[in-house]
Order: sequence, then C-alpha cells, then structure tokens
Amino acid sequence: MDIKITKTNQPKIKPTDESNLGFGRTYTDHMFIMRYNKEKGWHEPQIKPFEYISISPASPVLHYGQAIFEGLKAYRNLNDPDGIRLFRPDKNCERMNNSADRLCMPPVDKEIQLEAIKRLIDVERDWVPKSPGTSLYIRPFMISDGEGLGAFAASEYIFAIICSPSGLYFKNGLAPVKIHVERQYVRAVKGGMGFAKTAGNYACSFRATYDAAERGYDQVLWLDGRENKYVEEVGAMNMMFVIDGKITTAELNGSILPGVTRDSVIALAESLGYELDVRRISIDEIVEAHKSGRLTEAFGTGTAAVISPVGEFEYDGKTMMLNDNKVGPVAAHLYDELTGIQLGNKEDKFGWIHEVPRY
Ligand SMILES: *Cc1c(COP(=O)(O)O)cnc(C)c1O
Repeated sequence: MDIKITKTNQPKIKPTDESNLGFGRTYTDHMFIMRYNKEKGWHEPQIKPFEYISISPASPVLHYGQAIFEGLKAYRNLNDPDGIRLFRPDKNCERMNNSADRLCMPPVDKEIQLEAIKRLIDVERDWVPKSPGTSLYIRPFMISDGEGLGAFAASEYIFAIICSPSGLYFKNGLAPVKIHVERQYVRAVKGGMGFAKTAGNYACSFRATYDAAERGYDQVLWLDGRENKYVEEVGAMNMMFVIDGKITTAELNGSILPGVTRDSVIALAESLGYELDVRRISIDEIVEAHKSGRLTEAFGTGTAAVISPVGEFEYDGKTMMLNDNKVGPVAAHLYDELTGIQLGNKEDKFGWIHEVPRY
C-alpha cells in the first residue's frame, strides 16, 4: 500500500506528567485516513496531521448510525524501551470487518489495516508513554459518508485511525469494582448487532449505566435480551466467574462482543492449567453459587483494564460481596501473565506480539 505521509510542522507538546494521562483525552500529532467510493474502492491512504473531518449535514452516519470502531494498545517493551509492541492487532482487524459486514459497510483488507496501524504507530513512536502501566491507545474507526436522507446503506465511507496516550487504568494497582445487574434495559439481542463494535450499542447502554452510576455502581452486567436470565457482559468488558475453581464465562451467542482479551484469557488460562467452562450461565446460578460459597471470584476482561476484578454485585436489591472486596488469586495471576506477555517480561508462547517496524 502506498501511504502518503505528511508530517506536521507544529508538533504538540507531549504530556510530561504521565501519572495523569487519564483515558482518551489527548490525541497524537497524526492520523491515518482513507476514503471509499463505489468507483475507486478504498483509495488515497494518508497519514497526516490530526485534524477535523468535514462531512455533509446529510451524511448518513449522522442519521442512521453506520459507525464502527476498534480499540487496541501499543506498549513499550520493558526490556527495550525503543521496542514498540502491539497485542494481537490482527484480531482487531478481523473484528472490524465482521462489524462492517453486519452494518453493510465495505471491509478493509486485514493486511492494509495492519499496515496502516503499524505505519501510524511508527510515525508516533515518541508518543508511546514510558511509565509502567501506560500505553498508546489506538482507535481505528469507520463511518459512512456522502449525502442522502434515504434510509439505506451509504455508498461512501471514511476509515481512520487516531491515537491517544493513556494512563494506568487503576492508579493503586488492581481495584475491585461494584456492578449492578441490569433487569430493566438490555444492550443487545440475538440476531441484533451485539457482536459488532458499533456506536449504537454504546448509545443503547448509556441510560442503564448512568442510572446505575447514580446509585454508586461502576458498571452494569447485562442479561440476555430474550429471557432476561443469562449473563452476557459488562460495559466494555466480557465477564468471567470462578465457580468451583473453574473459570466460567458466557459462550459467544451473537449478542456478546467477542473480546480479544476474553479469547486471550481463555487460551492463557488453559495453558496455565486452569479448568475452563464456556457455556450459558444464568443469573440464578450465579446467585446460588454465591450463596453456597462456590463463587469465589468474578472479573471483567477488556483491552482498557485487561482484568478488572469485581468486589460486589447488586441484583434485585440484594448485594453479593465477593472475596471480601479484594483482588482474587485467579484475577491477579492472569493479570500478571497477560501483562507480562504484553510488556515483554514473559515469553510470548502464542505469537501474539507484533513489533512495530521502523519503516
Ligand atoms: C471492546 C469491548 C469488549 C472487550 O473487547 P477487547 O477486545 O477485549 O477489548 C467487551 N465488550 C464490549 C461491549 C466491547 O465494546
């Protein structure tokens, strides 16, 4: 792919205080962008200074919501600070195309996406923060473009990638979160677009999340949209439960987002000798396992936090405390192993790491 690269002559000042980066608040100097139309397909890939995207007020994305995205991170190798690494970026590129297909958007060849990410990160290498636990968050996304108020899929599209230095997710190490089990609202239904990483799924989730936040909960746990009975996932994380010592998680059923972290934790846990149980899990079973002391831990998995232990669930007005609101041994072990691979402290047995070349 021939990417035209235009570097900024007004580089921004990089954050000096890496302890206060937060998440997604500042952006690097450059972005990747390319456009699609029916005649030319994807064309004119460019890396250029970060700037506003101009679209028509009649652009279909503003009215009908064809918008999908991905999220992954670039890390500095702890043993070689010049080495910049990506964790399973190929999985994100695949998922982008699965989301595109669901929303009738054109796929972007996986190799082209990968090259676009690597080239952009190469240009922005100095933006990858150095402090432990920090990373450069990478946000590829696609929106429909052009003009037309007719309610059908657009014929023009924009694919872009932006980056944002991001801080340590938990300032004081792994910290357990409080989760409300949602009964009134649902996030997705089988046959809908729950498996796609699309803007609409987030718009759909805010009401319940804000209501729960007002009552002191960090996140909501979604139940299935048909029977309101089976546990699905949390906010932007998949969910795992340790029941009778087995790591138990919901099977992918079309309404759950297939997390790269979920997939990695399953493979890693198996290789470390844990028993895995991937199946439908009802909320009644969770309540029962908690009551009888067989539910010892629960944790979310996702790119942002990697592993996020749960200290408390609230369901139907009743509180279930887990592991004394402390980080459990399984969550801590998996967190160490997975971040060890990401940061270059542990052997990458699975071939998950992609080094960012110097082009
Ligand atoms: C992104 C996301 C996840 C986690 O996926 P990862 O690839 O592990 O980051 C889980 N659930 C939802 C709804 C998401 O959007």
